[in-house]
Amino acid sequence: MTKILAVANQKGGVGKTTTSVNLAMGLAKLGKRTLLVDFDPQGNATSGYGLDKRGLTASVYDVILNGVPAAEVRQTTAYGPDILPANIDLAGAEVELAGAEAREMRLQQALAPIRDEYDFILIDCPPSLGLLNLNTLTAASGVLIPIQCEFYALEGVSEIMDTIRLVQGGLNPALTLEGVVLTMYDARTKLSEQVASEVRDFFHEKVYRTVIPRTVRLSEAPSFGMPIIAYDPSAKGAQVYMELAGEVAERD
Ligand code: ADP
Ligand code: MG
Repeated sequence: MTKILAVANQKGGVGKTTTSVNLAMGLAKLGKRTLLVDFDPQGNATSGYGLDKRGLTASVYDVILNGVPAAEVRQTTAYGPDILPANIDLAGAEVELAGAEAREMRLQQALAPIRDEYDFILIDCPPSLGLLNLNTLTAASGVLIPIQCEFYALEGVSEIMDTIRLVQGGLNPALTLEGVVLTMYDARTKLSEQVASEVRDFFHEKVYRTVIPRTVRLSEAPSFGMPIIAYDPSAKGAQVYMELAGEVAERD
């Protein structure tokens, strides 16, 4: 059974893309057949794998709006996972889909013909709770929420939980909360520790044991167009994302 995980949080800058990019490579290294779907118009997961987002002949936009098969648009990467790339074209989709038929189901329908080729499909979600994210939550089997260890970390969590419940009540009753990952943990601050314990009190065993620390290497890797596991495999950031991949792979 393919696990399709939406890496989602409507807040920007919490580590969705960093987690999607590195978890995808980690899962691939564990031998899991993995597809990374970039579903953010910023295309940072696409460039994070070294693809030129401006030079794409087709992107996930064409898949959900122009009926181009995902199999024709996905690309292989040098780092293990396949990728369905995105670029700024996707920004128009929110509006263009508004009046369209089955507008929340486009991504689900697009992935259906290829999903069985993969053990994991990770979707890097945009920072909103609009139509694009209704597509990701409808296509997904589970949601993986990155939470940044900072002030107001839990603020906004109720919004995404409400959206998940909304989708469970209609478009995708089988959707589950797969897990919560704490990101940008700073061991030098009391705050990170407090946030981590609040999040564990709220989400209990859904929170992965692996905590992602704040490290400069993790923020540098994208400018080299590589996941950190390729860029600097011995870096702390690479090790923790490999550990997270192990936890994600074993969770049923
Ligand atoms: P989102 O996709 O939720 O907007 P990103 O993954 O793009 O978040 O992360 C936001 C910024 O923080 C990026 O510049 C990224 O390189 C940086 N970043 C993410 N995780 C870490 C980390 N663990 N340590 C240091 N910088 C990080
Ligand atoms: Mg992002």
